[in-house]
Amino acid sequence: MTGVIPNEEGAAPFANWNERIHAECYLPNAELGNFSHISFNVGPTLMDWMAKHHARTFQSIVTQDRLNVDRYGVGNAMAQPFNHTILPLSGYQDKVTQIYWGIAAFERAFGRKPQGMWLPETAVDMETLETLADHDIEFTILAPWQAETPRLDASEPYRVHLPSGRQISVFFYHPELSAGISFDPALTVNADHFVRFNLFRRINPEKAQQGEPQLILLASDGELYGHHQPYRELFLARLVDGAGGLSGLTSTYPALWLKKHPPRKAVSILERTSWSCHHGIKRWTGECNCTPGDRKWKSALHRALSQLASDLDRLFASQAGRYLSDPWALRRKYIHVMLGERTAADLIAEHAGRTLPQEASYRLQLLLEAQKERQFMFASCGWFFDDFQRIEPRNNVASAAMAVHLARLATGIDLEPALLPALARVTSRKTGLRADAVFKSHARQSAAFLPDTRSFLQRRATPG
Ligand SMILES: [Zn+2]
Repeated sequence: MTGVIPNEEGAAPFANWNERIHAECYLPNAELGNFSHISFNVGPTLMDWMAKHHARTFQSIVTQDRLNVDRYGVGNAMAQPFNHTILPLSGYQDKVTQIYWGIAAFERAFGRKPQGMWLPETAVDMETLETLADHDIEFTILAPWQAETPRLDASEPYRVHLPSGRQISVFFYHPELSAGISFDPALTVNADHFVRFNLFRRINPEKAQQGEPQLILLASDGELYGHHQPYRELFLARLVDGAGGLSGLTSTYPALWLKKHPPRKAVSILERTSWSCHHGIKRWTGECNCTPGDRKWKSALHRALSQLASDLDRLFASQAGRYLSDPWALRRKYIHVMLGERTAADLIAEHAGRTLPQEASYRLQLLLEAQKERQFMFASCGWFFDDFQRIEPRNNVASAAMAVHLARLATGIDLEPALLPALARVTSRKTGLRADAVFKSHARQSAAFLPDTRSFLQRRATPG
């Protein structure tokens, strides 16, 4: 809640992982100008941290996007849903909240509207695409096996027709080359070799012969370049600003490509699919063998947190419903309070159509903060790996503890007794650690947290 990160093990010689990833990846890639060539998205929480702790890196990343806007009329930065949530596992209101919050954070950082949105784990369903289009998002990027068409030609983007009659553009990345970059470090030792022996072989010969434009989209975790794999920031710099150009290739990015080459063909997508689970999206509910060992903890954790989420929603909707007609619109707009753009009291008064008594307003603010924690409970990395012992699922439980605490402060209703038996079914295979124990230890820490009314009523000063 403080935004200050405690020292973390494993990040040495840096104080925490953000510092280490910044030094190994964001800083060198910004200095090399790589952010001006690639299409990228940075998580809003990390962007906010960078704005506060490494303002020059933050500014450099933003400026590299802005130079493209000035030069081509379209930027290369992409937005993302706020909390790295698997959207097909979320209900409609959560999809809307995640997408609206992600757009607001992007606008705050980059000073413009986003055209594209990267979906966490490229997890998609039609409702997600429709909600993107509702928010004027023009394109996203998917894996080719998420298209219904077998042997899809991924060298051009496609239209997806939506139930509402609208459409959205979808780019598909090159699967072998993208996987190679991600998992085979030998492939990315030398960018000139990569272009000559890998990229060139993937060019569509028929299109080349007919002089038709074509693109090869390479998709990877951005923190690969320098953090997960040392020196690959240099590979990337050479690839986008040297080796490719020397070979007659031009680097581009989806928004720029769309401007010159709108999609010519339509495609249907496979519902509830993603790029990092070959069983759809079961990896995040524990129903597939993408992670080894007993995976019952995943489904148990998902059930427990989903139950808590609906309890929190009921409390919030009934409390907010006393004063205003659309609690979910209020929750959407709460991002502007989170970003320090306005006060919660103002926002609540606007939605209620009048200034509420201070205590009523304060209770609503606490429930909105609980809703924020509730969104953090579903960060997908909590279910990505094989064991509950890891920090990622424990962080999701920590958010649950804070949400329960805030809801109790706001309403006097304690959601903990109903939650603990569900969390007790979540057990680490390696250490026997149980989620109810993790919850209790965080509940003890949360209990000391009493938000002070004044800080809620004042605007939070943030850079950016
Ligand atoms: Zn799977």
